[in-house]
Amino acid sequence: LLTIENLHKSFADQVVLDGIDLQVDEGEIVVVLGPSGSGKSTLLRCINFLEQPEQGQIRVASASVDAAVARNRDIQTLRRQTSFVFQNYALFKNKTALDNITEALTVVKGMSAKDAEEVGRKVLSSVGLADRADAWPSELSGGQQQRIGIGRAMALDAPLMLFDEPTSALDPEKVHEVLELMKVLARQKRTMIVVTHEIPFAREVADRIIFMDGGKVIEQGTPEEVLDNPQDERTRAFLRQVL
Ligand code: ATP
Ligand code: MG
Repeated sequence: LLTIENLHKSFADQVVLDGIDLQVDEGEIVVVLGPSGSGKSTLLRCINFLEQPEQGQIRVASASVDAAVARNRDIQTLRRQTSFVFQNYALFKNKTALDNITEALTVVKGMSAKDAEEVGRKVLSSVGLADRADAWPSELSGGQQQRIGIGRAMALDAPLMLFDEPTSALDPEKVHEVLELMKVLARQKRTMIVVTHEIPFAREVADRIIFMDGGKVIEQGTPEEVLDNPQDERTRAFLRQVL
């Protein structure tokens, strides 16, 4: 479903992604681990061109963009193949829970207000917030806000979902509700790439774990391979810190 070839991204003279190759199959759940600054967020943001890479090829479903000759129209097509869940939820503060979910449906997908509301209410109920449709983000807990953020991504129904540390801004007691919702998505075989430090979640849910350091994929494999029998010293050092 996703193919990344030779992806390069720098900020000024700092190389942040240094030749990433990655393939993700339909229905696969990939967890990305790595120390702070290793390029995890930049990788996710380059997949949908929230950041513009200098070099590399990205294909998602039927969309394909070569960074060196990226055209706006191709980037728009690529963006529609992905949905993004942010660490800080990134909800519109002046829109209700329901409107946060329906906004992209009407604006991006051109759905009628009535159809968007129907989808929005369905999604609200599948994230367990049917009764909070009219709440403002400020009236919701962090966990509830992130469930709206995930609901917004679900509603778009894009082939690939990208999660950048979706629980790291939450109080510890709210982490569980968001991870449980993500497990539901995993069971539905949604294709997901998840940057997270939640190792037990990675062990339970990931089909594959990728370990990044210094803008490179250092090693990858099943959770057992990467977590229990890491081959690279950098992976071992990282796991000693987080386990
Ligand atoms: P963390 O675990 O802390 O979220 P990360 O692996 O997600 O780290 P990135 O956010 O991808 O790391 O950042 C990789 C490097 O790129 C860092 O050194 C960061 O300072 C730099 N960087 C990221 N975004 C920008 C930007 N917009 N402008 C300049 N430098 C940036
Ligand atoms: Mg990050």
